[in-house]
Amino acid sequence: MTSPMSVALGPGREFASIARWVRQWGSRAHGIGDDAAILDVPTGTRLVVSTDTTTEDVHFRRAWLAPIEIGWRATMAALSDLAAMGAEPLGVLIALGAPASWDGALDEVLHGVGDACEAAKVPIIGGDTTRSPVLTLGITVLGTATAPMRRDGARPGDLIYLTGSLGGPRAALEAWQAGKLPRATHRARFARPVARLSMGAWCAANGATAAIDLSDGLVADAGHIAAASGMQLTIELAAVPVLGGVMARDALASGEEYELLVTGPSGMDAAAKLARIGTLTPIGRVVATTLADGACVVVRDGPRRVDPPPGYDHLSPQ
Ligand SMILES: [Mg+2]
Repeated sequence: MTSPMSVALGPGREFASIARWVRQWGSRAHGIGDDAAILDVPTGTRLVVSTDTTTEDVHFRRAWLAPIEIGWRATMAALSDLAAMGAEPLGVLIALGAPASWDGALDEVLHGVGDACEAAKVPIIGGDTTRSPVLTLGITVLGTATAPMRRDGARPGDLIYLTGSLGGPRAALEAWQAGKLPRATHRARFARPVARLSMGAWCAANGATAAIDLSDGLVADAGHIAAASGMQLTIELAAVPVLGGVMARDALASGEEYELLVTGPSGMDAAAKLARIGTLTPIGRVVATTLADGACVVVRDGPRRVDPPPGYDHLSPQ
């Protein structure tokens, strides 16, 4: 079978599987059939590329999610990195690894990939499949941007903005790990995240100085901007939007949120509202570091400094 969607699921299965998936994707798949995909990059834009792997028993357990949700979530997690750069998606490639026990569910997993690509208006342009001891989905995303946002541009006096409300994924994980069913609102944030692509592109064009998507947790990811920019990021705990049933302090360390953390001038929240692009909530401020403190994240609850809980860690091995 030719790349870019070559299949190695066993003798006789290759052509049937690939033909079925391409048929299932319909217009969501573009240009599959040559050895590699060919893309036009608009003049004046830069290519922005990222890859992200989702692995069974590391990022999720099979019992928690429907196969279609696993495909959706893996794809949105990868696209979220384009959102963080302010890039417009250009194409998605899928590297699927699966044991035989997943064969009956792979159509649904790839259906979820297709749904996420349709929601993000990005074509599937290729991929590869192989046998693997557990389900893995390596999603490579390509995008374009005229002025991509980076982590190193935060400046003193910038405000810190957040999209969305935090805490759902951590609360869902805690419920599952305690053998309980999570609240529907918490589960939805884990199972059906949405990459903030239009907000990212808008921020890049409207004065943002730095951005990151929240995969490790608010405090941990703010720390990446602080380190890259050589700044201190001060976050007001009471200003952080959290979902119902979530303690604000726990939300600070909720990972795999795929919301955006953006720094930029004051007024971006009002401008975003006016542009009807979504909600940006100011949650703090960028300040110049002192030698004593260094680049870091400080969380305040009124006059008190709060110690955040440890950052998000992936599931511990079974
Ligand atoms: Mg990221």
